[in-house]
Amino acid sequence: MKVLVFIEQRDRKIKSSALEALTLGAKLAGSPKDCAALVVGHQLDDSVVGKLKGYGSDTTYVVDQPELKLYNTVLYAAALEQAIKTFGADLVIGLASPMGRDLLPRLAARLDGAIVSDVTALEGGGGKIQATKPMYAGKVLAKVTLLENAKQFVTIRPNVFKAESLGTGSSTVTKLDIKLPATSLKSVEVRKGANEKVDLTEASRIVSGGRSLASAENFKILNELADVIGATVGASRAAVDSGYAPHDMQVGQTGKTVNPNLYIACGISGSIQHMAGMRTSKVIVAINTDPEAPIFKIATYGIVADLFKAVPLFTTKLKKLLEK
Ligand code: FAD
Repeated sequence: MKVLVFIEQRDRKIKSSALEALTLGAKLAGSPKDCAALVVGHQLDDSVVGKLKGYGSDTTYVVDQPELKLYNTVLYAAALEQAIKTFGADLVIGLASPMGRDLLPRLAARLDGAIVSDVTALEGGGGKIQATKPMYAGKVLAKVTLLENAKQFVTIRPNVFKAESLGTGSSTVTKLDIKLPATSLKSVEVRKGANEKVDLTEASRIVSGGRSLASAENFKILNELADVIGATVGASRAAVDSGYAPHDMQVGQTGKTVNPNLYIACGISGSIQHMAGMRTSKVIVAINTDPEAPIFKIATYGIVADLFKAVPLFTTKLKKLLEK
């Protein structure tokens, strides 16, 4: 089975979860010659694509043109289609990120393929692929078998699979010269969320705040804790709707799906919609004044306390501990 992995880059930096996708692709392919990576963008020299060395693929396809500097659905789809055809890919893996969710279904439809998105486990080989994906806000896990005779497409949830340098694969760069299709769709600018040190979807630690923060200013105490432990700050929808945090910080069903090693929920009740976006976090710490708050049902550690007292205390103690 030939596996092509779409590697996401932003500002010429490979996303760390793209390496998770590549490791998975290399393992499913079974041999480096049957695994290829595709990087699309501009000025993709060895300082960018060199990062893929040792992750189990013999070929790195690069489509490098000025028009591809910023993500553009139509142009990136043309690049991916060309790479699929050139490599003869049976399975294409990408990320369940805004870009991956936009791009891969487009190609699946165009090539009459089969697609499963937001996958948390993938097994099989030789065309027989079974994927696991959370459904109904994470309440059930569906096992989906992809049609064997179709081109198969999978987007994986970041931070679930492990990125491992397998020490195999020559990662030989093959430049693909493609004639980009004419399109009136232009990407003008990509704005990064002001509070995002590391993209929430890729962060290994997150400190999140809810409605109870009561003002944008009060998020300062979460930022201070986040600075000490190297975390990214998130928010519930109630906090976002109240204007305490921008929408790009929202975690949940209509926000971002996150999967960090540590998720600290501060004054968040744990609505089904919020939990849909964070329940797969490895360790969940909940701080809430209400001992009956639903968040405690999924928390690894629950602290019944006023966040305005507990969070600064945490920050001070952790700062001291980490300084030692
Ligand atoms: P609340 O539910 O008001 O909870 C505040 C919590 O803070 C309470 O548990 C309270 O006990 C505690 N508290 C109060 N004061 C303190 C204090 N000083 N210290 C500690 N604890 C304190 N929500 C999301 O988060 N993300 C989504 O993506 C999302 N999508 C939605 C989509 C739809 C279609 C709908 C209908 C809703 C969606 N929601 C989403 C909203 C969701 O239903 C909840 O309203 C929201 O998650 C509640 O946010 P919250 O926990 O901050 O606020």
